[in-house]
Amino acid sequence: MAKFKYLKPSTLQEALCFLNGNESDKKVISGGTDIMVQLRNNKIDPEIIIDISEIENLKGIHSRDGFITIGAATTLTEIAESDIVKRYCPILAQAAASVGATQIRNRGTIGGNVCNASPAADTIPALVALGAVATVVSVEQEREVLLEELFVGVGKTAINSNELLTFISIPQPTENSAGSFFKLGKRKAQAISIVNGAVQIGVNAAEGKFTDVHVVMGSVAPTVLRIREAEESLIGRSINRQNIENAAEIVKNKISPISDVRATADYRKDVSGNLFIEAMSDSLEQLGVDVSYPGC
Ligand SMILES: Cc1cc2nc3c(=O)[nH]c(=O)nc-3n(C[C@H](O)[C@H](O)[C@H](O)COP(=O)(O)OP(=O)(O)OC[C@H]3O[C@@H](n4cnc5c(N)ncnc54)[C@H](O)[C@@H]3O)c2cc1C
Repeated sequence: MAKFKYLKPSTLQEALCFLNGNESDKKVISGGTDIMVQLRNNKIDPEIIIDISEIENLKGIHSRDGFITIGAATTLTEIAESDIVKRYCPILAQAAASVGATQIRNRGTIGGNVCNASPAADTIPALVALGAVATVVSVEQEREVLLEELFVGVGKTAINSNELLTFISIPQPTENSAGSFFKLGKRKAQAISIVNGAVQIGVNAAEGKFTDVHVVMGSVAPTVLRIREAEESLIGRSINRQNIENAAEIVKNKISPISDVRATADYRKDVSGNLFIEAMSDSLEQLGVDVSYPGC
């Protein structure tokens, strides 16, 4: 591993000052579970590493003014175990609980999972399905970016080198909404997703109609994909098997997976449709709407 200078700021302002200016190649480290692998494999070679793991106001989960706010340096264990997250955004708790194994979740952070921008990252589909917004800060400015617009390619985000992701805010879902996170890996733990994703739906049960649908798939394209055509095919329509199966076909047609060591592209397409149907069925069941599928 190449040598680097290690800085450990204790405040956000200090971290932003270290990041400011482009005179040397700098990299932020949070839990280190992605970046240490990249350093050891010589995939990156920064001159300066800035460790943000001790900055207290980048940690914690709060519910206020209709939003759930999560600090970027909050660990995946804290998120998976949070009563606030489990109550308001259970799909995010499920996604966080599905990452790696206990040791990885104890160190790995939500900010690291998002900023590493892997197409297979498990918290990203849940966050996008929940309409999450990222707060990104530099010495000069603070800006908010819809999370689904943050990803520009494999491992690439729209966060500039002098900026930090500080918070993720999630609008509190309404009463008559529910969601489901899904992940298919080769094993139950320590497995990168072959396909993952999340749905978050709102319904008018009395009228038997979908009022809102978010469909997000991961590991099937260079970035996590929101499948708007599938969403539009359901919003305002009756809740029935036919409509859900039509939407599943759209999901299969809109994704562009690759074949790799984990699975073939064809397998990823087929399984995506099935996982989507299961997730819709699960979400509807939580809302007391029965469209049971044999075998789901
Ligand atoms: C054995 C193993 C199993 C794994 N299993 C899974 C899995 O099942 N699912 C999954 O999704 N991931 C998995 N991962 C990947 C990793 O653990 C997660 O992505 C984790 O959430 C990364 O968080 P971190 O805090 O460790 O990130 P770090 O390694 O500290 O950082 C990751 C990247 O994000 C940047 N960064 C971090 N925080 C910020 C910030 N606040 N602002 C700007 N940039 C920032 C860093 O510069 C770096 O580029 C696994 C990793 C290992 C080693």
